[in-house]
Amino acid sequence: MTYVIEYDIAAVIIMAVLLFLYLFRRNFPGAQNKLFAWMLTDAFAATIMDILSVFLLKSPGIIPVAIHYFVNCVYLLTYNMAAVIYYRYVIELTHKDEIRMVNQLICIIPACLHVILIGTTCWTHWIIYFDADNQYCHGPLFFVLYLVSMTMLVLSMVEAYRKRTVIDRHQRLTVVFFSIVVAASVIIQMFFPRILIANFFVAIHLVLVYLSLQNPEHYIENETHVFNQRAFIEMLTGYFHNEKPFTVVAFSLGGFDYVNRVLGVQNGKIIINQVASFLRWNFPKSEIFHLQETEFALLLPYHDENLTKVARDIRHEFKRPMLIKDDIEVVMTPLICTLSYPDMTQSVDDVMEAIQYSFNEAKKSGNGQMLYADENSLVQKRRETDITHSIEHAIHNDGFLVYYQPIFSTKTKTFESVEALVRLVDDELGFISPEEFIPMAEREGTILAIGEIIFEKVCRFLSGKQADKFGIHYIEVNLSVVQCMQESLAQQMLGIMKKYNISPEQINFEITETANFDSDEILWQNMNTLIKSGSAFSMDDYGTGFSTASYLIDLPFKLIKIDKSILWSAMKDDRAMVVLKHTVDMIKELKLKIVVEGVEDQQMADVLTDMGCDYLQGYHFSKPLPEMAYVEFLQNHLNTAEG
Ligand code: C2E
Ligand code: CA
Ligand code: CA
Repeated sequence: MTYVIEYDIAAVIIMAVLLFLYLFRRNFPGAQNKLFAWMLTDAFAATIMDILSVFLLKSPGIIPVAIHYFVNCVYLLTYNMAAVIYYRYVIELTHKDEIRMVNQLICIIPACLHVILIGTTCWTHWIIYFDADNQYCHGPLFFVLYLVSMTMLVLSMVEAYRKRTVIDRHQRLTVVFFSIVVAASVIIQMFFPRILIANFFVAIHLVLVYLSLQNPEHYIENETHVFNQRAFIEMLTGYFHNEKPFTVVAFSLGGFDYVNRVLGVQNGKIIINQVASFLRWNFPKSEIFHLQETEFALLLPYHDENLTKVARDIRHEFKRPMLIKDDIEVVMTPLICTLSYPDMTQSVDDVMEAIQYSFNEAKKSGNGQMLYADENSLVQKRRETDITHSIEHAIHNDGFLVYYQPIFSTKTKTFESVEALVRLVDDELGFISPEEFIPMAEREGTILAIGEIIFEKVCRFLSGKQADKFGIHYIEVNLSVVQCMQESLAQQMLGIMKKYNISPEQINFEITETANFDSDEILWQNMNTLIKSGSAFSMDDYGTGFSTASYLIDLPFKLIKIDKSILWSAMKDDRAMVVLKHTVDMIKELKLKIVVEGVEDQQMADVLTDMGCDYLQGYHFSKPLPEMAYVEFLQNHLNTAEG
């Protein structure tokens, strides 16, 4: 029998070109790519073996029959394995995160069947054999190979259909098209065994897969030519899955905003590209990822105990200035975060969160210095998660308490007002300072619920006691900026006051000075509505933010609370005392009332009274007290005053 091998030769050429392209391109070392490489190598080997077997058949009798068997068996094995690998490839494409046992078995069983049937055929003659004239013949079970391959192709199509939402239309079509074309070619081969066309179809299909499913842009960035965040996550997933140790060194380019602003976005891009090539050049042993605009990561495939050293190396490398255009040089200060597995992280989420957390912290500290995000930031991250849970729990289980810190009037020498301060005590974490949990609640949005709970409690407290009896004129209630940005805030607060029969004059809302008063229309509306109803506003933490004196003139504040830090520096430093004195004078001239907080001793109280401050608040008078203790405090004070 004479065979038509021209198709096979064409297939070999096509596959060789593909192999060449594949090997000389940067490939993401994920499972999908590895399977593609396997598929390509397997098909290439099958085609070579096919051609070889035809040459051997031309000269029967000369070549020992064992060699005939060997070449043909390798051909059949590689050719039929292609469908199994292809099925596994489709599974990888469609299942990604959860490859089930049954899918693994669907690969293993046919693979074993092929090995056993083909491997033993020289003794059993079930698949192929050579007759007395040394002619190549099909055995009685040859059809099983076709059957298995066909089944694998059909199953691939079924999987692609089942998981059609995971892959796009293009990918779906490629899978279906391949399965049909290869199935057709196998059938043609069955009826026209002389025409060796099947490998040619496989080759054409591999080209299609290469062009459509193996799109490297998925994982590699066009501009920087390094891997992207998707690649980072997938690679980490692989490491965790195989429990392989690794080290991550992530860093963010400090000062990049400045480059973008001053030198322009184009130059910003040049820098990013320079950083990418700098990393490729200096860290050839690690995989490099561009996570976000200014964030890069290196993944080292081993556990490095000396994380600080790795970070220091990077920092050292960055000390050299980068050249943009001909003469502009910039030096970037990386914020560095190092992590390793198995000791520090347990999941991909852990890694991503720890990286983001460290960079946010570093940016908050704002000094542009290098920062090592190490175990501490992970511990801190976990504490944040715990506190977030604790907040949720307290919201739903009435866990928040309100403490009251009396405010002393220097004129009447009585405690005319009081500040309501939230308290959270967790069963496991113990006391959590509002300074710690309020900013988190603001980020999570739970501050809205907390604010409402606190205000209800304050109103309930006010309604139960006869405020007048103790001479309480009003209660100071802290409002978060996030609360002030809710359109419904004023109505909500008025509603609660009404519910407890509280007159709005009894409430003074404190808003911290760092709030951006200029830009927020809703904050303005809320303030105006509440002021019209009779409530007043105090500017909290005066002296710590960026406010200008114009805020004092333009904004409807009745009371200014000078921050404790301003008082404390004044007590230590004469020049700071001058500032405090002038601040107090200015506020008084504007006819606004002044509260100074953080008054810890008699000397402070005297100084402030002499300056003419209206109200004083601090540990010297009383720490914040629980409801009952506060009422007792007032009672005692009344008694001594009367006595
Ligand atoms: P803030 O409004 O500036 O409150 C004053 C803080 O100074 C309180 O801390 C108070 O206990 C403390 N303090 C008062 N006098 C002294 C003193 O003489 N010495 C010292 N060392 N500290 C003194 P606290 O209760 O831990 O509250 C911290 C911050 O948490 C508050 O600062 C406020 O910004 C926020 N916060 C507290 N309660 C609430 C609330 O109900 N809602 C909102 N949105 N924020 C709250
Ligand atoms: Ca306050
Ligand atoms: Ca303050």
